[in-house]
Amino acid sequence: MLTKDLAICIRAVDYSETSQIVTFFTRETGKIGAIAKGSKRPKSSFDGPIEILAHGEIVFTDSSREKLATLTEFQQQPVLLNLRKNLLALYCCYFAAELLNSLTHDYDPHAELFDGFLQFLQNSNEQQTATEDRRRVLSLLILFQLTLLNDVGLQPILNHCANCKTKYDMRNTKYEYYFSSSANGLICKDCEMSFTDKIRLNKEVAGCLANLQQIPASTEETLVKIEKVMVRHFTDLLGHPPKMAKYIVKSRLNVEDNRHDTKRG
Ligand SMILES: [Zn+2]
Repeated sequence: MLTKDLAICIRAVDYSETSQIVTFFTRETGKIGAIAKGSKRPKSSFDGPIEILAHGEIVFTDSSREKLATLTEFQQQPVLLNLRKNLLALYCCYFAAELLNSLTHDYDPHAELFDGFLQFLQNSNEQQTATEDRRRVLSLLILFQLTLLNDVGLQPILNHCANCKTKYDMRNTKYEYYFSSSANGLICKDCEMSFTDKIRLNKEVAGCLANLQQIPASTEETLVKIEKVMVRHFTDLLGHPPKMAKYIVKSRLNVEDNRHDTKRG
């Protein structure tokens, strides 16, 4: 049986001199693994070798779900060219593709997540001034990561303490904020003792997580700190650090306000 679907390539490995094994995230079918025979030949029905983030309409035969599907057509949309010129944006997109691959199951469709991922790629591909770009790309990545968690049923609890349900009072300057992966969300000062994996957050980071609308306008420093929390959380969820994480944030551990750091900078 032939199936037609919209697809984004989230992984591609060489299978032979001329063929590749490709993982697609498709809109209606979900994630599929497919063999693309002859994809590396100069004249193939796939518009050339298939790279990560390539997207467009595919046709595949899906004889048995136990085995790889066979890709028969791939009409690739134009390459997201600006990504090739902006390394951080490219790495953020690769990171998003890696997380999507890790957190979704074969043949489990998530149409809205597909649309969100495609939009994320297109937004990341938009070109802005160099100074604005790092901030914008990081905020897009964080928001996509949260969308992904929501969509696969792992939505973190961010609007009140994940343990005792106390609402946050962001105006209270003496308040302390933590994030814990084992609690799956923000936790308050009264509960932090019970969670050994907690990370102390500064007020800006906690404020953004409790109110995601603040993320696009945040400083780069705050966004990097939020991304470190996200990386730590994904490391816990996956049981290993995501491969692309080290290209986005350097250290995963220290997300507290560090005055020595700010002085040095
Ligand atoms: Zn609490």
